[in-house]
Amino acid sequence: MKSISVSVVAYGGRDFRHFDYLPKKDTILPIGSIIKVPFGKQKSLGVVLHTTTEPTSAADLLPIEKILEVPPIPNHLLDLASWLSDYYAASPKAVWRTILPSGLEQRSQLKKLKTSANTGHKPITLNLGQQKAIATILSGEHRGYLLHGITGSGKTEIYIRIITENLRRGKSAILLVPEISLTPQMIERLNLHFPEQLLVNHSKLTPARRKQVWLQAAQSERPIVVIGPRSSLFLPLHSIGVIIVDEEHEQSYKQENTPCYNTNQVVAKICELTKSHYVLGSATPSINTYLMAKENNIGYIQLTERAGEGKLPKVTILDKRDRHELLLPELTQAMRRTLQRGDQVLLFINRRGSAGAMMCGHCGETIRCPNCDMSLTFHGDIARLVCHYCGFKRLPPHACPSCNEVQLSFVGSGTKGVEVEIEKAFSRYRIARLDSDNGDIETIQTTYKQLQDRQIDIIVGTQMIARGLDLAGIGLVGVIATDSMLAIPDYSSSERTFQLLTQVAGRAGRSNNTGEVIIQTLSPTHPAIIAASHHDFEAFFEHEIQLRQRYAYPPYRYLVKLMYGHKNEQKATSHSTEIAHAIALKWPGVQVLGPTDRAIRRSGGLYWKQLIVKSKRRATLLDIIRDLKPGWKHDIDPTNMS
Ligand code: ADP
Ligand code: ZN
Repeated sequence: MKSISVSVVAYGGRDFRHFDYLPKKDTILPIGSIIKVPFGKQKSLGVVLHTTTEPTSAADLLPIEKILEVPPIPNHLLDLASWLSDYYAASPKAVWRTILPSGLEQRSQLKKLKTSANTGHKPITLNLGQQKAIATILSGEHRGYLLHGITGSGKTEIYIRIITENLRRGKSAILLVPEISLTPQMIERLNLHFPEQLLVNHSKLTPARRKQVWLQAAQSERPIVVIGPRSSLFLPLHSIGVIIVDEEHEQSYKQENTPCYNTNQVVAKICELTKSHYVLGSATPSINTYLMAKENNIGYIQLTERAGEGKLPKVTILDKRDRHELLLPELTQAMRRTLQRGDQVLLFINRRGSAGAMMCGHCGETIRCPNCDMSLTFHGDIARLVCHYCGFKRLPPHACPSCNEVQLSFVGSGTKGVEVEIEKAFSRYRIARLDSDNGDIETIQTTYKQLQDRQIDIIVGTQMIARGLDLAGIGLVGVIATDSMLAIPDYSSSERTFQLLTQVAGRAGRSNNTGEVIIQTLSPTHPAIIAASHHDFEAFFEHEIQLRQRYAYPPYRYLVKLMYGHKNEQKATSHSTEIAHAIALKWPGVQVLGPTDRAIRRSGGLYWKQLIVKSKRRATLLDIIRDLKPGWKHDIDPTNMS
């Protein structure tokens, strides 16, 4: 009698344990088959890991319930599941929730990959830098490469050629993008090149649609091209040749709940398992990735010139200390010049809404959300204060809830505030705003189209307009404020600021006219801002890496964020204090910071405290996680400290 070894999807322990079952008589169960098994009092899905020929006494084992009518998942995903569980101290339950689509048990019909007509594309003659980059990557000397190319240097064109070559070799390709709804141009370009092989994966698909995409990937007989967010890594592709991560430094590549994986690490693992190659592309690589390249753990390719005609824009820093206009006259003058030339203006601000917080001039308190304890933001169009975390809305109060004084005023500004301000000064021009208040996929796409067709003169927006846009008409980029980003108490806030400024500045000067960038800031001497103004990645890296070493942060230390919530705030504090002491006592080599309030102090009716534990050994942090009491959450290798 043969038995089968199964990873049970409902198993919630923090180890990758297997359970043995009896297969049905006379059925062949390939490895990777998805089955249903009894598990305790319930039934659970399971994945067949291996079968044994050893005779076992049937009496000990429960028989499996049924075999699902879906294709078995490929071998590399079985190995990956086990690795995810070990490397992130995650339960099989959490791991399979990440890998498998829901609704596997429902029957569904397989739709063919939708094909669109190839409308033809102008062939581009690659420049020397691009040709060399492609040859290096295809040589496959390294498993992975950092493609460090300034904005507009023609990285996408390189991706397309690498993918084409892989398809020719009979291999599939995955192209990861930070946020698919923000990359309509990228999808358009891929569609032109791969009209019959393109599978577009979104993060907001319905469960039925997600399962369709999963089945299409599993059952495709020919190599295909997948474009999508980080979850696309777990599609059951059979023959992966290359994985490309565009804008590899972006924060959306980190999963915030268990398994809290970093996309680049998973990519490297999949490529090791499938003997394929990967490319990490960015104009502003993360400190970690750049260090890996410097230390020759991955290959390094640099592109320092814009492809085609464009030049990098000239950047001016405006010192905003002691100057209270929302837009300084130097900026409005530059806007006029640009608009009179017939070019477009892009204004970036890191906050949506009309104003920042509403603050009491007497006691200094801000008006806060009753659910989250976060400062509320004023939205003038609906005349309400809004919580940007939970969506709570209220009318602005007449008096301060803490001290009853009536000296309430608004501090700071947001996208809507900027929009209103420029509507006054630039009433002759067509103004549009794009942020997550109006950023559904349709609005994004129509706004992009209107920008392309020059039906918009001034675009105001948040991060949504900072990346990916390839528009010839943008002559001026204005950064209204940088300071809220720098003020975030996080070891990586300089890195984020540098990246964002470089990205947003990269929207200017994309055609042959030289663009211009103006940055208004309260920190005109900050190294991240100065380096961004000189397009000097190397200078920024050298400065930042020294700080990381001096203050013992990644990549010189490993971190884990431990989080605990309780409905009684004092209990939350005392319990997390106790655990902080216990950890320091049991693992004397580590450094424990906290407990502190989480940035969102209240959520789900609980008060949240957090500890940060630093260690030179990652394995120690995994031991600490496995030792945690129920009720604690963890994020290992966090990219966000709040
Ligand atoms: P990146 O992805 O690095 O930002 P893209 O691949 O989007 O750069 O290229 C920027 C622009 O330059 C695009 O409009 C693209 O069509 C164009 N381009 C790319 N390579 C070349 C080339 N070799 N010659 C002329 N134009 C090019
Ligand atoms: Zn809230």
